Amino acid sequence: ADTSNVGNWHDARVEPYGPIALDPAAGVLHYGQEIFEGMKAYRHDDGSIWTFRADANAARLNRSAIRLALPQLPEELFLESLRQLVSVDQDWVPTRDGDSLYLRPFMIATEAFLGVRPAREVSFRVIASPAGNYFGGEVKPVDIWVSRTYARAGRGGTGAAKAGGNYASSLVAQMEAEAHGCKQVLFLDQFNHNAVEELGGMNVFFVFRDGSMVTPALSGTILEGITRASVIQLGRDRGLHVTERTITLDEWRDGIASGEITEVFACGTAAVITPIGQLRDGDELIGAAGAPAGEVTMSIRSQLLGIQAGLLEDTHGWLTRLV
Ligand code: PMP
Repeated sequence: ADTSNVGNWHDARVEPYGPIALDPAAGVLHYGQEIFEGMKAYRHDDGSIWTFRADANAARLNRSAIRLALPQLPEELFLESLRQLVSVDQDWVPTRDGDSLYLRPFMIATEAFLGVRPAREVSFRVIASPAGNYFGGEVKPVDIWVSRTYARAGRGGTGAAKAGGNYASSLVAQMEAEAHGCKQVLFLDQFNHNAVEELGGMNVFFVFRDGSMVTPALSGTILEGITRASVIQLGRDRGLHVTERTITLDEWRDGIASGEITEVFACGTAAVITPIGQLRDGDELIGAAGAPAGEVTMSIRSQLLGIQAGLLEDTHGWLTRLV
């Protein structure tokens, strides 16, 4: 494609999986001009294959493209690429409960040049890979490490885009979390009273004693998760008061201590919804070890999984049939 806004997309094809040739001076290798999406295809009982909110992934890819000075891809071409890929060999899509086909659409700058500027040639591709049930059946709360050293993104940065560079900068924080026995890292806005932002790859929700839910507002530094938007909708469908606002680490700590906050969970495409167990802030531990997953967390989780698997009614028209 060229980089006129919507691109001039051509040469669509499905290829066997394998290495791709890149010029050593390709823009992506030096200036990190790369964006991607993460989504899943699910096989329903009648054999048909569906994706969840693919239009939202297409829209987010295009918002990322604008931020990274890459061309946009029309939604129809985005969907068509998924359809063609999945159609080639439908046996890839697992049938077991909770299993899915993970789809990784991505766009890279392929033009060879060394001066710093947006590339005029790019490539859009999709990788497909069968994914097992994230939890292997059992849902266990995960422990989270609070990063006091690293920020994921700053105001005006690329935090709201799904760009590879954001993940490159979060790896060292993730290593720090793992070194402290935690599964995931929590990023804070250290310039805004330690407002909670998100985990390395998931958005965060708080359930309050009165049943209301809070998730950090989209400040421009966090990723607008598609699971996040779905949880907000499902919460409101249940008549729960769901607010997007600033919530600080202090409010988290005090809310757990007073019992005002009864559940905390994270959400994203990979794990869908995962309860958060203990929060580790240096030597301080927030929350009880070994506490069971919360009721609201598990109920919204099974509703979302049910919709994705085609077992519950898709009242919001979130599913798109691929095959
Ligand atoms: N935040 C980050 C940093 C992520 O990488 C992801 C995973 N894409 C999410 C949130 C959750 O987004 P989604 O629900 O669209 O998967």
